Amino acid sequence: MSPAERPRPATVTEPARTTPVYGEFDVVVVGGGPAGIMAATAAARAGHSVILLERYGFLGGAGTAGGLSTFCGLHAKVYGEHRRVIHGLADELLERLAKLDGLSEPHLTINDGILAQAFDISAYKIAADELVTGSGARPLFHATAVGVVMGDDDTLDAVLIESKSGRAAVRGRVFVDASGDADVSAWAGVTYEKSPGHDGMLYPSLMFRINGVDARAAGEAPWRTVERLMEEAERAGTHTFPRKKPIVRPQRNPLEWRANLTQLSNPDGSAIDGTDVDQLTHGELQGRQQVLDAFTFIRDRTPGFGDSYIVDLAPQIGIRETRRIVGRYQLTEDDVRDCADFPDTIGVNGWPIEAHVSGTVEFRWPRGENPRGYNQLPFRMLVPDRIRNLYVAGRCASMTHDAQSAARVTGPCFAMGEAAGTAAGLALSSGADCGAIDVAELQRRLERGGAFLGREAS
Ligand SMILES: Cc1cc2nc3c(=O)[nH]c(=O)nc-3n(C[C@H](O)[C@H](O)[C@H](O)COP(=O)(O)OP(=O)(O)OC[C@H]3O[C@@H](n4cnc5c(N)ncnc54)[C@H](O)[C@@H]3O)c2cc1C
Repeated sequence: MSPAERPRPATVTEPARTTPVYGEFDVVVVGGGPAGIMAATAAARAGHSVILLERYGFLGGAGTAGGLSTFCGLHAKVYGEHRRVIHGLADELLERLAKLDGLSEPHLTINDGILAQAFDISAYKIAADELVTGSGARPLFHATAVGVVMGDDDTLDAVLIESKSGRAAVRGRVFVDASGDADVSAWAGVTYEKSPGHDGMLYPSLMFRINGVDARAAGEAPWRTVERLMEEAERAGTHTFPRKKPIVRPQRNPLEWRANLTQLSNPDGSAIDGTDVDQLTHGELQGRQQVLDAFTFIRDRTPGFGDSYIVDLAPQIGIRETRRIVGRYQLTEDDVRDCADFPDTIGVNGWPIEAHVSGTVEFRWPRGENPRGYNQLPFRMLVPDRIRNLYVAGRCASMTHDAQSAARVTGPCFAMGEAAGTAAGLALSSGADCGAIDVAELQRRLERGGAFLGREAS
């Protein structure tokens, strides 16, 4: 048998290796999305050495890499009135964005039920750089975390990274998993859940932006025109769109529009799993075709769009849900819809349940007449079941599938990140395990920094 014909085993054995230590830090944050930006900034502001590991060359997470261009969850509808409920470090980020001319006025969305706020993606990248580096935290870009090294007694010793400089270990005393996919937690053996692809995991989307729109010709509220035209085409049987309830809206300059109307699935109809490289590849290819189809429809049929073009396809498909850790407390749909309070509140979520199910998006609002409109977020949802020096913040924190479809949006992720970074500082200064810090002191520090924890009589 020639070497070429010889059967080969399904695995290879890599030679053992000695890995250089890139550096040692008080706090190692993995992932530079909304949660990681705030975690790194808060921990550095508390006087600790902080490194923020990010696999791309910029911060913002899904907001930039996924091309969102809208902050959801900064506001809630509180007893019938629209109010900003996310403050603290988010205020500073928004101020920086405004200075860069990168922030639109909040606009009503989801049948005018709640406010969202559009931003310019390039300005967000710069504002996030400024916030993080201004705090003294050190970003390390193009560095993908690929594994962990465990210490003694259920502690993490280091995160392993791969980059163009090779493989290295980044040592830390406290770690924050803000990877969105709970990568660090999964490698460290933390208990987590992942919804099934059928009737479970939220479907991803590929976001894009359109430029060259003639705003005057497009007329009043042209997003309603787009939705109506799509519905009519579906009814007439000339088109089938992968997702009903498209979001197509002007940016601050109405020459430019953002479009959120794709839905990415495997050939069997299940949701693309953002932790599976084959499915991710399929999703990218499918996403670009869906964008092309949808854009062509909009351009050809919508007044004012005749000379428009696709100015940007998001760098990657946007992943809404993968792993969620099962921590000390799992936030539930009832918590969200009954506007639950928790004694260990670290912030709030005002966004409704937003379920990206097969073919459409379903919304479920807080229950009752004129509800308070936000639930508190308990500190315990950041605390994994066993690793003593780890917090988990953002969309992979401890939430059920349904609760995650609400509290995964940017506003609550900012709040969770700021709380995790502040808590990391407390764990370091007190020598306590991450789950055993003084929560009352954490709350005092967050409120002193301007965060709203939902602790008010009104
Ligand atoms: C298509 C889509 C549309 C959405 N629309 C909106 C919207 O309009 N408004 C809104 O507020 N929210 C929206 N969301 C929700 C949005 O995902 C969350 O608001 C938010 O970005 C989650 O924040 P995060 O920090 O937990 O994670 P992410 O934003 O996912 O950030 C995780 C970061 O970690 C990095 N990372 C991951 N793994 C590693 C690793 N191993 N090593 C190094 N770095 C790593 C990633 O590159 C990324 O920067 C949308 C989501 C999607 C997918």
